[in-house]
Amino acid sequence: MAIRNDGAYTPGRSYREAARGPEVARKAADTRMRRDDAADLLRAFEITPTARRIDVAAVLLSRPQHVCAEDLQQMLAGHGTSVSKATVYNTLGLFARKGLVRELFVDSDKVLYDSNTTNHNHIYDVDTGALTDIEPGAVEVGALPALPPGTLVESVEIVIRVRRRLRRA
Ligand SMILES: [Zn+2]
Repeated sequence: MAIRNDGAYTPGRSYREAARGPEVARKAADTRMRRDDAADLLRAFEITPTARRIDVAAVLLSRPQHVCAEDLQQMLAGHGTSVSKATVYNTLGLFARKGLVRELFVDSDKVLYDSNTTNHNHIYDVDTGALTDIEPGAVEVGALPALPPGTLVESVEIVIRVRRRLRRA
C-alpha cells in the first residue's frame, strides 16, 4: 500500500479551522492572542474558558510553535503571568485531549506540545533539542504493514532524528 503524506489522515479539526478565521492566531505581534479570541477558541474545542486556561492558550496558540511545559511556564512569566508547573502540565494535558494542541513524544524524557495540529512531520535534532516542522508532502511513506483486524490508519507521524556529523581528523 503506497501512502503519501499529503494530509489525508488529519483527524479532527485544526485550531485554525475552529477559530473564527485563519488569521486569528496570527494577529498578536507580541506573541499573545487577544483574550477574547483565546476564549472563543477554547469554547470551539469544548473547553471551559477559565482565566488561567485563557492565559495559557493566548500565549501557546499565538503562532505555530513547539514548547515543553517548562518553556511555556517561562513564556507566561514573561507576560507577567505566574502559573505553577502543575497547572501548566494539567492545562496542556487537557488541551491535548481535546485536540487543541498536539502532544509529541520526541524523547523518552521530553513531551513537546505543538500548537499546529494540522498533519505534519518533524525533524528532531538530538544534539540541540530543536524540533522543526517538515513541509506537508515532503515525506513519502512507501508501505505500511498489515493492520490489526478491524482497524484503519488514523495517522502516520514521522520524526526524523538528526545529530551532528562526526568530524574526520
Ligand atoms: Zn510541528
